[in-house]
Amino acid sequence: MHNIVIVGGGAGGLELATRLGRTLGRRKRALITLVDRSRTHLWKPLLHQVAAGSMDLNDHEVDYLYQARWHHFQFRLGRVDGLNREKNQIHLAPTVDEDGREVIPASTIAYDTLVMAVGSTTNDFGTPGAREHAISLDNPQQAALFHSRLLNACLRANAQPEPLQPGQLQIAIIGAGATGVELAAELHNTIREFVSFGLDRIDPERDIKICIIEAAPKILPALPERLSVAVLGLLKKLKIEVATGEKVTEVSAQGVRTATGRYLPAELVVWAAGIKAPDFLDNLDGLETNRINQLIVTQLLQTTRDPNVFAFGDCASCPWPEKDGRIPPRAQSAHQQAAHLFKMFPRRLRGEALRPFVYRDFGSLVSLGKFSTVGSLMGAITRGSVMVEGYFAKIMYLSLYKMHEMALHGFTKVFLDTLARIITRRTEPHIKLH
Ligand SMILES: Cc1cc2nc3c(=O)[nH]c(=O)nc-3n(C[C@H](O)[C@H](O)[C@H](O)COP(=O)(O)OP(=O)(O)OC[C@H]3O[C@@H](n4cnc5c(N)ncnc54)[C@H](O)[C@@H]3O)c2cc1C
Repeated sequence: MHNIVIVGGGAGGLELATRLGRTLGRRKRALITLVDRSRTHLWKPLLHQVAAGSMDLNDHEVDYLYQARWHHFQFRLGRVDGLNREKNQIHLAPTVDEDGREVIPASTIAYDTLVMAVGSTTNDFGTPGAREHAISLDNPQQAALFHSRLLNACLRANAQPEPLQPGQLQIAIIGAGATGVELAAELHNTIREFVSFGLDRIDPERDIKICIIEAAPKILPALPERLSVAVLGLLKKLKIEVATGEKVTEVSAQGVRTATGRYLPAELVVWAAGIKAPDFLDNLDGLETNRINQLIVTQLLQTTRDPNVFAFGDCASCPWPEKDGRIPPRAQSAHQQAAHLFKMFPRRLRGEALRPFVYRDFGSLVSLGKFSTVGSLMGAITRGSVMVEGYFAKIMYLSLYKMHEMALHGFTKVFLDTLARIITRRTEPHIKLH
């Protein structure tokens, strides 16, 4: 049987493993193996809600072992740290438990076709103090850590007899991309809700300050101007401070300093500016990478130096000829590429030529929590781009996650589950108090 090994069970990799498992795996036409360093999957665009406390992690996590069992693929727990292309093997580092005791020793897995879908991490560009003092929303553990620090900051401020120190209860978010902006709006709401649970010595309007710092001259730099202007207006209404054209040069335990000499005191700092692919991809047995470690792939999603190694999602740099650029690192890119590879692999098994991947940009949507959702839709949905806001925009925003859920669980389960959530009112956000 042809051995397809997928490394990384994220927005793209888990969809691909599930869909291939349901078809090629179930019919025993190929052995599908998914490798991930975590035991569970959470769709990354939900992380800012975990950080703010408006979403319960347990409600949305998918257990890889269960998923593998129900969808006819194998799951192997482990962090991939090497590749031997001559032997067609990947190398897994040993897995250790919380006490450092080895659970699974180092091992290798053989493949006929390898698919790298290991995503990306936040890029702090080596800024002094960023690693020590800023939290990045790279995984559920980081998001939960931020949430816990946020609650503790509020409890501490409420309990202390003396007035607040400068910077206390102030949050600096570095990066005004979609992640930074969505987190700021979500925090604005959840902090107020939390304080309303009896923390009566804190006055949110007076004591809590959220500031977004962005090096580019405008917020949402990668998105259309109209969207950026609309979102800026909404942030102003929420009294969220926005400092554009300010490049952060240092992060400390007390705050953030920028290249213009400005100093913003902050108790909590989130780094949400820029991404890079994991470091181990740089020089992965001679595969071509760019300066942010992404594997360079052709439009067939094959790496340029090895047709047996595919890569997609955030960890791959794929041409976008229509825009004379590269496909953006987004959940919708990973979703479309997974769907494309799913269609291509039966052709590959039959020895037929693969077709190039064509990216369809449906536009961008930004959720400002319960306040609003705004976006610009384009391409196949509308002619040119059109601004949307409110309920329709919210439905469109939610539909991306629904598509991911449907790829994992099928239409019937997602429909019934959504119905059950509406009936039991579990769709209404409730603040997590621990
Ligand atoms: C807070 C936040 C909000 C976002 N919001 C949006 C949004 O609204 N819309 C949008 O389009 N995009 C959004 N994004 C971006 C989107 O999440 C990514 O583009 C998308 O998740 C990329 O999918 P992926 O499959 O390439 O990687 P990921 O979903 O990141 O999955 C990578 C997987 O690889 C695993 N892995 C990593 N290294 C290894 C290793 N060495 N060995 C084994 N396994 C490994 C990880 O555990 C993970 O499961 C957001 C991102 C963040 C962080």
